[in-house]
Amino acid sequence: MVIAGGGVLGTMHAVMARRRGFEVVQLEREAEARGASVRNFGLVWVSGRKAGPELSLALRARELWADLGAQVPGLGFRAAGSLTLATGDAELTLLKEAAALPDADRREFELLDPAAVRAVNPALRGDFAGGLLCRADAIVEPRQVLPALRGHLAAGGEGTAGYEWLPGREVTEIAPNAVRDHTGAWHQCDLAVLCPGAALTGVAGRYLARGGPSPVRRVRLQMMQTAPLAERVTTALADSDSLRYYPAYDLPGRALLPPQAAAAGRARAQLLLVQRADGGLTIGDTHEYAEPFAFDLDEDAYEHLRARAETLLGGPIPPVRRRWAGVYSEVNPAVAPHALYHRAEVESGVILVTGPGGRGMTCSPAIAEETFR
Ligand SMILES: Cc1cc2nc3c(=O)[nH]c(=O)nc-3n(C[C@H](O)[C@H](O)[C@H](O)COP(=O)(O)OP(=O)(O)OC[C@H]3O[C@@H](n4cnc5c(N)ncnc54)[C@H](O)[C@@H]3O)c2cc1C
Repeated sequence: MVIAGGGVLGTMHAVMARRRGFEVVQLEREAEARGASVRNFGLVWVSGRKAGPELSLALRARELWADLGAQVPGLGFRAAGSLTLATGDAELTLLKEAAALPDADRREFELLDPAAVRAVNPALRGDFAGGLLCRADAIVEPRQVLPALRGHLAAGGEGTAGYEWLPGREVTEIAPNAVRDHTGAWHQCDLAVLCPGAALTGVAGRYLARGGPSPVRRVRLQMMQTAPLAERVTTALADSDSLRYYPAYDLPGRALLPPQAAAAGRARAQLLLVQRADGGLTIGDTHEYAEPFAFDLDEDAYEHLRARAETLLGGPIPPVRRRWAGVYSEVNPAVAPHALYHRAEVESGVILVTGPGGRGMTCSPAIAEETFR
């Protein structure tokens, strides 16, 4: 089997293929994957998923991540859970509604008052009216996941040898039972899986452009990372702006939320905060949908996110050491409003998988499993 794309979707397909006894050759156009899979929070995020297939996919993926985490310590998998924090009464009312959802137990939700929030996460010394603990949420280390999984495959962790990683090779052509890379080399295969991420032109482009509007669109996000904070932030954190975006919170109380801060509204921002294994804080994010995307980083959005993080933590965050933007592809809501991602057999024996959007890191192992099913 040949896989085009060295991001988390391509790599999870390699894992699931090796489990089923396929020999795998994985090609990546860059010297190392540099797409959404290394730019994200590493959140394995169950809490905000829509009831039904989306929640089931995320929960299956959470199980697969936990199993992989036990086998591959380099993933940095931690069953840390998350806290979504209410600023005031309106947000708290919405969190209460979420805690009473029929599937709240599957999400491992528990509504906490401020004292109980601080007992779970003592780093939270700031202002909030309460929090929703989601014990099902987890964290992995995005800068480590891909090399760690490849090391596991190369060491025969999913069965004896049969995994080859070919970086610096862009797949440019597809023929029956073979793909060609930009050097002209052909790679024979029984099955090819294309996981090109947000590359909507190139080899996958002709399939995505076929007949009508594209089944996927792109979204750009801004992120930053601080120097290490001396104290542990025991859970992942989300602020109440996340209640505006995640489908699980599409409940009556959402209509009663106060208006969003202007800077947050402009950048479609929500605060998500994850402490990295080295103590640094990954903080984001924003959402830009209209292309052409900005090529530079917007400081207003960063100031808003920093202020939000400091309000919740009750003190200054360490200096910012890195800033970046990332782009993911997600299913186009105008084409497939209920799809969780895009999979199509674009030629006989050639499967294109992309478009998981903001749930891609979370759901990647379960999406790869579904491809083989
Ligand atoms: C800032 C940000 C934060 C996010 N946070 C989270 C989060 O916390 N949790 C979560 O669940 N999801 C999150 N996401 C979404 C998640 O990161 C993506 O959905 C996921 O990483 C997509 O994986 P992928 O493998 O499809 O794409 P990518 O990671 O973009 O990988 C695609 C790879 O394919 C390569 N490629 C493209 N074309 C070719 C070709 N022709 N030949 C060879 N190689 C090719 C590219 O170079 C790239 O390395 C976030 C995304 C961003 C941008």
